[in-house]
Amino acid sequence: MKEYLIALDAGTTSIRAMLYHIEEKRFVLTAQQEVEQSFPQSGWVEQDADEIYYKAAYVLNRCLTSVGAGKIAGIGLANQRETVVLWNRETGEPVSPAIVWQCRRTSDFCASVPNEMRTIIAEKTGLPVDAYFSASKIKWILDNVSAAKQLMAEGKLCAGTVDSYLIFKLTGNFVTDYTNASRTMLFNIHTLDWDGELLRYFGVPREILPDVKPCTAVMGYASLGGEKLPLAGVAGDQQAALFGQACYKEGDGKITYGTGLFLLFNTGGQCVSSGSGLITTIGYSIGKKITYALEGSAFNAGSCVQWLRDGLGLLSSSGESEQLALSVPDTGGVRFVPAFTGLGAPYWNSDARGLLSGLTRGTTKAHIVRAVLESIAFGARELADCMQKDSGICLREIKCDGGASANNFLMQFQADVLGITVNRPKERESTALGAALLCGIALDLFDEKEVAALRTSERIFTPAADRTLYEKWYREYLKAVGRALMN
Ligand code: ADP
Repeated sequence: MKEYLIALDAGTTSIRAMLYHIEEKRFVLTAQQEVEQSFPQSGWVEQDADEIYYKAAYVLNRCLTSVGAGKIAGIGLANQRETVVLWNRETGEPVSPAIVWQCRRTSDFCASVPNEMRTIIAEKTGLPVDAYFSASKIKWILDNVSAAKQLMAEGKLCAGTVDSYLIFKLTGNFVTDYTNASRTMLFNIHTLDWDGELLRYFGVPREILPDVKPCTAVMGYASLGGEKLPLAGVAGDQQAALFGQACYKEGDGKITYGTGLFLLFNTGGQCVSSGSGLITTIGYSIGKKITYALEGSAFNAGSCVQWLRDGLGLLSSSGESEQLALSVPDTGGVRFVPAFTGLGAPYWNSDARGLLSGLTRGTTKAHIVRAVLESIAFGARELADCMQKDSGICLREIKCDGGASANNFLMQFQADVLGITVNRPKERESTALGAALLCGIALDLFDEKEVAALRTSERIFTPAADRTLYEKWYREYLKAVGRALMN
């Protein structure tokens, strides 16, 4: 009797396997391992792909041994996106360290891409040219690692993202899914195929890339614990969270409040191109039916709360920020702009820096803490405004998750600032839930309609009836952003 699914969440800083009880519709066990990152030069970020695999296998085995592999129906996978691994097709051995999404080593190359090519890339992939995405990272390894060149000449090289590496190691198949492919800058999100023109431009032969399958495909079978377990249901982490949050209709959106902030917004079958510097991406696919999404992110969100706690020593815990913010009726005119590392969409200004304005002798730490929390909500409002303008689709509600979504003040303020409800789920591990649900659909354990009911709300934050004050505060925030951009 198959009672469980496993959701494998291969994140940047940790890898988790979570055991999902199919009948009880909840997670019952989590096994977790931290993953090392290394920073060999300024702006470079690397990981050991072998370590990612061994730790994935370790946490999977912890789940398997706890209930017995015979009770597992299958494994779903969500993963850190854009990170690149190149490996030997015969041995599975990586040719170099994985280049992690944050790594900036190819930013000079990306800056040199001519404007007409940028336009072509944006039209075909939905992405702005940036070192963040996989294409220039693959090119870098092909140009700089002799073992990669040698294997390519011998027809034995594989290049892929973390999902395809893990699937290869676990099942022997060389495949990826639409969502991960859509972050490589080599995949045409309209034709759903690797794009010949882009492959030529980046010097990446099609033969070294995986086959691309729907999120709900059975990717292969993993021999684990004496069983052959289907690895089925794969999506990039933010897309898995969109799915786990049951954002299945056009206009459904979710915000993950982690270190940074990610807003994804379902645009249905419409592939909306953004005039505001947002990313157009594949949200998920059920079989060949594609749902597109717009994505916007703020580099700093929870990290600002960490800064209050660890940098300024104003808080003993991140959670304490809630009580402090609630202890004052407003920020007393203080505004904060979280531009520690520049500002993302819609500004894309890497020179902007953080700013605290409106200080008086009467400013207390509660005002500052409140201004920091408010700035997170204002940043999300800016992204939501861009999305609604670009798509002409109205956002109806925001589903929230991530560490800082525990903050009731922040979630209420977010509802007030957006003017729509903010809906917090009982299961905040949306990424893992998305992987489990995609796996359940792939294996015909759940149908598409049924999964929407598997997400339940823990609390719904309703916006204030009179939002005049919030609009005024938002305008003050935008003014402060203008100042931060003048740096
Ligand atoms: P990530 O997955 O990006 O590592 P998490 O989703 O675990 O992040 O969220 C951690 C972040 O959330 C930290 O930056 C922390 O400061 C912030 N955070 C956690 N709890 C709270 C809270 N109650 N209020 C505000 N911020 C919080």
